[in-house]
Amino acid sequence: MPTTRRHFLAATLAACAAPLFAQQAPALLPAAQGRRVVVVGGGWGGLAAARHLRALAPELDVVLVERNPSFFSMPLSNKWLAGLVDEKLLTHDYRAAAQAFGYAFVQAEATAIDRDRRRVHTAQGAVDYDWLVLAAGIRHDWAAWFGDDRRAIAEARTRFDCAWTPDGGLAALKARLDAFKGGELVMTVPPLPYRCQPAPYERALMIGHLFKTRAVPGRLTLLDPNPLPQRFADVFREQYKDQIAHVPHARVKSVDPFARRIVTDFDDLRFDEAILMPPQQAGDLAWQAGLIGRDAAGKPSGWAAQDPLHLHAVGDERVFLVGDLIDRASPLFGHYPKSGHLAARLGRIAAAGIAARSRGSVPETQLPESNCFVTTRLAPQEFMRLDTQYRLRGDGLIVQTAKQGFDPNPHGEDVDWAKGMFAELLAYPG
Ligand SMILES: Cc1cc2nc3c(=O)[nH]c(=O)nc-3n(C[C@H](O)[C@H](O)[C@H](O)COP(=O)(O)OP(=O)(O)OC[C@H]3O[C@@H](n4cnc5c(N)ncnc54)[C@H](O)[C@@H]3O)c2cc1C
Repeated sequence: MPTTRRHFLAATLAACAAPLFAQQAPALLPAAQGRRVVVVGGGWGGLAAARHLRALAPELDVVLVERNPSFFSMPLSNKWLAGLVDEKLLTHDYRAAAQAFGYAFVQAEATAIDRDRRRVHTAQGAVDYDWLVLAAGIRHDWAAWFGDDRRAIAEARTRFDCAWTPDGGLAALKARLDAFKGGELVMTVPPLPYRCQPAPYERALMIGHLFKTRAVPGRLTLLDPNPLPQRFADVFREQYKDQIAHVPHARVKSVDPFARRIVTDFDDLRFDEAILMPPQQAGDLAWQAGLIGRDAAGKPSGWAAQDPLHLHAVGDERVFLVGDLIDRASPLFGHYPKSGHLAARLGRIAAAGIAARSRGSVPETQLPESNCFVTTRLAPQEFMRLDTQYRLRGDGLIVQTAKQGFDPNPHGEDVDWAKGMFAELLAYPG
């Protein structure tokens, strides 16, 4: 075809618009036989999407791209830190799951998404998609504390990581807790919304338990911009008054990871060890791909903007957003709970939506639900169970109903729940 001026201009504009992307990226995989869905992120949302896509649309080629070699569950990880859950239950082989369900697994870091070309770039090559499911989870907004001070960010990340994402940080945190011989341990709780709202308190409970049972002369101070749920306030006061101090309404103003100091609105605290949790946001790829929403003032909301009834990105029906990275679902309640259960349900709904589109039919509207088991007491044991359900109101807005219950006599329901989810997502027990 002769090169016309219009073609030349279009090609030049495309090249200018996407300077980050190599024009001739090596292919990561052989070309698909039919249409291909690429799922980026093998956490709770991505695993559900990949697995249900194979079941609902066997004609589609499905590829899961994940940077980690194996899956590690954040649910139950607090209990694991305290030695109360077997590591074997929480870690799973991605390749075995991919083989059981019949999708391709590629262990690679996705470096960029080129939405114009429908292409995912990875450190090992590029892969084209007909539909993309982006389920890359969260990132920590270190810039909120440190601006562009890279040295301070690196110090805080490497020495005081909070291990809130499944990337090896948990093992390092466990080693730090096991090596802690006493003194002041500080944990910062991020402002809402963040991943798994009750989890910082559950983690504090586990650390208090470790200090008490090991007779460690240490104190955990929780700096929290939010109020403490009553159940945790009671147990901290009754059982761990020498181990846990909770400071409500404590907004972090500055952190010096070298001098080990934190300044809040009311206090100036020195620490020996810390679990630092800055504010959270959607993961890096959502930013790179230009998928972040805007708040009422027109500033980036920090989370990926989604059509809440169909789960695709606002303005791009080829990209589905699943899991903790999404923005508000409804003006009536704001964000969905950032839970593994809910992420998995969104993954399944996105799979159904893509399956319907691939056949040219209109996807049915489905809404997720979430169940969450939280340990609120260890001696004697007690769980809190949080159930959230959703329905559509006449005006098209999503309504949330939340139920909270306590079980003073649990029999491992949290482990049973996890086993059920692992069976669905990872073909557990294999
Ligand atoms: C301590 C703790 C306890 C929790 N307890 C519970 C609980 O009891 N019940 C519950 O339901 N939820 C719980 N949660 C919440 C749950 O872990 C999250 O809601 C869930 O992990 C969200 O799933 P996701 O798929 O959005 O993200 P993730 O599970 O974080 O998955 C994202 C995946 O994307 C991968 N990824 C990211 N970027 C790239 C890239 N560029 N290239 C390749 N791969 C990439 C990551 O490696 C990761 O595997 C807990 C969380 C924490 C921290």
